[in-house]
Amino acid sequence: MFELRHVVKRYGATIALDAIDLSIEAGRTTALIGPSGAGKSSVLRMLIGLEWPDSGEVRFDGAPLRRQDLLEQRRRIGYVIQEGGLFPHLTGAGNAALLARTLGWEDARIDARLRELAGLCQLPFEALARFPAELSGGQRQRVGLIRALMLDPPVLLLDEPLGALDPIVRHDLQDQLRELFALLKKTVVLVTHDVAEAAWLGDTLVLLRAGRVLQQGAARELLQAP
Ligand code: ADP
Ligand code: ADP
Repeated sequence: MFELRHVVKRYGATIALDAIDLSIEAGRTTALIGPSGAGKSSVLRMLIGLEWPDSGEVRFDGAPLRRQDLLEQRRRIGYVIQEGGLFPHLTGAGNAALLARTLGWEDARIDARLRELAGLCQLPFEALARFPAELSGGQRQRVGLIRALMLDPPVLLLDEPLGALDPIVRHDLQDQLRELFALLKKTVVLVTHDVAEAAWLGDTLVLLRAGRVLQQGAARELLQAP
């Protein structure tokens, strides 16, 4: 579904991605793991077109991603970041429905979709009426997920989605995400620095370090390796 070919990304003197080659399979969950600064977020931002390679190519569905495709690309991709990345001045529903409204969805359609997704993401529907500051960390994360799923995109990108949560909430959400991924059958790319989380949620693991792929393989095989 995605392919990075020899992608280089620099920030000033820092080489974030060092001629990286990577393919990401459709319909499965790929977990990117590695220490802080390995380039995990840069890969994700490149897939959605928030960053552009200095050289090399990002391919989507067999064709190079072009700048003129980016609006469309953003609609095909649900993007979730730590703490949900919500606008503080909008309610949960306001955040989740933002894109649907700009696309002209009617209120009734938005409401029905929000109800459906609140059920799926195990958030009480009433909680969507609250502002981010009035929600718990886990609830904010669920609102972020609902927002990402609103347009039913084929691809879901999650950047440390559970990073800001306490261990118990995190554990619950890990289980729920696993069920959700199995149910939705989307192409999921997940960034985490937690190996256990990557193994629990990922079909494929990609180990990154210093902007390169160290190893890639089925979660089961990689973790059995000596
Ligand atoms: P990870 O997600 O694995 O922590 P990142 O992709 O965020 O890694 O970062 C890779 C490297 O690029 C790091 O050294 C980071 O400091 C640097 N970097 C990332 N984004 C920027 C930026 N906007 N400006 C400058 N340096 C950046
Ligand atoms: P994460 O891996 O969760 O994205 P980072 O600390 O790498 O966390 O990045 C947080 C934000 O800061 C991102 O928007 C990234 O682009 C930016 N950033 C990261 N490293 C640098 C850096 N060295 N200089 C400037 N901005 C950076």
